[in-house]
Amino acid sequence: MKKILLSACLAGLPVRYNGTAKTVVSQHITRWQYEKRFVVFCPELAAGFPIPRPSAEIQPAWRGNRVIAQGARVTESTGDDVTERYILAAWLTLEMAQQHHCQFAILTEGSPSCGRNVIYSGAFSGDRVSGMGVTAELLTRHGIEVFSEYDLPALCARLETEEAASIIPLRLSDNA
Ligand code: SF4
Repeated sequence: MKKILLSACLAGLPVRYNGTAKTVVSQHITRWQYEKRFVVFCPELAAGFPIPRPSAEIQPAWRGNRVIAQGARVTESTGDDVTERYILAAWLTLEMAQQHHCQFAILTEGSPSCGRNVIYSGAFSGDRVSGMGVTAELLTRHGIEVFSEYDLPALCARLETEEAASIIPLRLSDNA
């Protein structure tokens, strides 16, 4: 059974920068929980960030807003540059995913670590732009398929395809 890395705040743990959770309620989540597929993890906590902590956003570089591929930076609302710690968070998450053989991840949309399709603009204005958080980017670069909490039906379809392909057909003669 394929394991799935799950953002801790989606699992209901109050680990976000402001001490809240972002619990996701869905029949898919309930089923995968019952099947014990989840490896629950918070990249930022693993890298030693406290709760609460200042909000952080990715500052686009001239090449784009990806931190690893394009040299964008992560800063907190205080102005502190926390890029290296966000990269550490991403590597710790990758290590955890690989230890548990997670081929898939469900990460929190919009986060500078976990965002899959969307991040905040970097202006701390509440505006969102298309982009990817640092952890989502690193996992994707290492072959882990990342889905947001809004893409659960797509992950469900991927799991069905993968697991159907891994069933070894039973020959009649095997039972003889
Ligand atoms: S780093 Fe990811 S798991 Fe941790 S609080 Fe932020 S969005 Fe949630």
